[in-house]
Amino acid sequence: MSGFNPAHTPSPDAVEHRYIHVIGASVFVDDRPAEDHWDRHFLGMQGDVAVWGIDVPHGEDPSYGAATDLYSYFGRTTETDWLVAGRAVQLVEWGRTHRFCGRCGTATERQANERSMKCPACGLLAFPRLAPAMITLVTRGDEALLARGVAFRGPMYSCLAGFVEPGESLEGAVIREVREEVGIEVGNVQYRGSQPWPFPHSLMVGFRAEWVSGDIVCDPAEILDAQWYTRDALPNIPPGISIARKLIDAWVAEG
Ligand SMILES: [Zn+2]
Repeated sequence: MSGFNPAHTPSPDAVEHRYIHVIGASVFVDDRPAEDHWDRHFLGMQGDVAVWGIDVPHGEDPSYGAATDLYSYFGRTTETDWLVAGRAVQLVEWGRTHRFCGRCGTATERQANERSMKCPACGLLAFPRLAPAMITLVTRGDEALLARGVAFRGPMYSCLAGFVEPGESLEGAVIREVREEVGIEVGNVQYRGSQPWPFPHSLMVGFRAEWVSGDIVCDPAEILDAQWYTRDALPNIPPGISIARKLIDAWVAEG
């Protein structure tokens, strides 16, 4: 399957259509919509296939229990298919949660010419939400810092991550979050890549940073444990195609 191009309207030479039904926050893919009158969002072109997100009304399940949440879908499909499914969930959820103007409460109208909801009374525009979050692997000589977050499902150690604050640069967020979560100072913050993370609408921006000073002191509200690890004695690390794993794998490959 070829790459995906986000778009607002289908290409005239689309030869095929695909429908990603969004049931709650789970997805079910079919070559026709389960109901023609359900609300839909055009997602973009995947090669010559026009891909749509279908907003399945609450209480309906055209998949009869076969729909997959994005966590389970992760790693079980191609990276492109997973990203498109994440886009479907994010745009459908955006439509569900922006039906009324946040300023005056009037019912909004979907704009035909761009991806926005407009208030017909006061003109306020609402665009799909994206929340940038930084994720960073901190190194100190031959060691890297890996931490077990309080929200992790199992005994897994990963990079440090956190949301970017309004008015803050990405590099500033790296320095602040590392200081808050594990009490150390870092420098030489270097961008290493990014990944959409539709839980529910993050964009993970990946960095490397170098330890400058300080000993690990975990913030118990966020971090259960954090340690310095060498490449030959790694703990249980995140699976699959996550950017956390890519940051760790790239560091291991340098050794
Ligand atoms: Zn309004």
